[in-house]
Amino acid sequence: VVRVEDVDKSFGDNTVLSDVDLDVHEGEVVVVIGPSGSGKTTLLRTLNHLESVDSGRVEINGALMGYKLDDSGKPHDLSDAEVSRQRREVGMVFQRFNLFPHRTSVENVLLAPTALRLRGAVDRAGALDLLERVGLREHADKYPHQLSGGQQQRVAIARAIAMNPKVLLFDEPTSALDPELVGEVLGTIADLADEGRTMVVVTHEMRLARDVADWVVFMEDGRVAAQGPPDEVLGTGATPRVARFLQQVD
Ligand code: ATP
Repeated sequence: VVRVEDVDKSFGDNTVLSDVDLDVHEGEVVVVIGPSGSGKTTLLRTLNHLESVDSGRVEINGALMGYKLDDSGKPHDLSDAEVSRQRREVGMVFQRFNLFPHRTSVENVLLAPTALRLRGAVDRAGALDLLERVGLREHADKYPHQLSGGQQQRVAIARAIAMNPKVLLFDEPTSALDPELVGEVLGTIADLADEGRTMVVVTHEMRLARDVADWVVFMEDGRVAAQGPPDEVLGTGATPRVARFLQQVD
């Protein structure tokens, strides 16, 4: 579903991603970990073309994100409308929930597809079903300020799945939450994994990497420094660098 090939990205002379390769298959949960500043968020943002790449390619469902190739194979930027169309395939959940403050939970879930003028978008009943799935049916008519951070994040997750995207991206979904609210959001993400959704999750939460991931990617200095199944990357066979990182975060 997701293919990243040989991606490089710099901000000025700060190289943030170098030679990054990543494959995410249908139904897989990939959890990206690594020290602060290692490029995790930037990698995630290239997947829906919130960041462009300097070289290499990002494909979602076989389509090159952000560019089209002409007959000679030269890339040209897609129009904003074309990029928006591509982004419908890619749901994103941010660290700060980014809900519309003057809209209720159910309206927030309905607004995402409407804003993108999606065909077959959920109706109100569908939006209520999605809220039920994240355990918030009874909060459907509340406004964001009437909800806890964990509940707001679960509304944001319901909103992201309302688009029925091919892949869901999470950018540190629990790091803005009070510790006692982290568990409920992790539980929702684990439920989505059980449903077979394809997901890429950037997190500092090792529970997600250990318990939910099919594949763990450890980034350091803009490179994929280790990757594999969680018990290989995080277990007794961890590289010295990963082991040191785990000591710091656990
Ligand atoms: P953290 O865990 O702290 O969120 P990260 O691994 O997600 O870190 P990134 O947020 O991808 O790392 O940042 C990698 C580097 O890119 C950092 O040095 C950051 O300062 C730089 N960077 C990120 N976004 C931009 C931007 N829009 N403009 C300039 N520099 C940026």
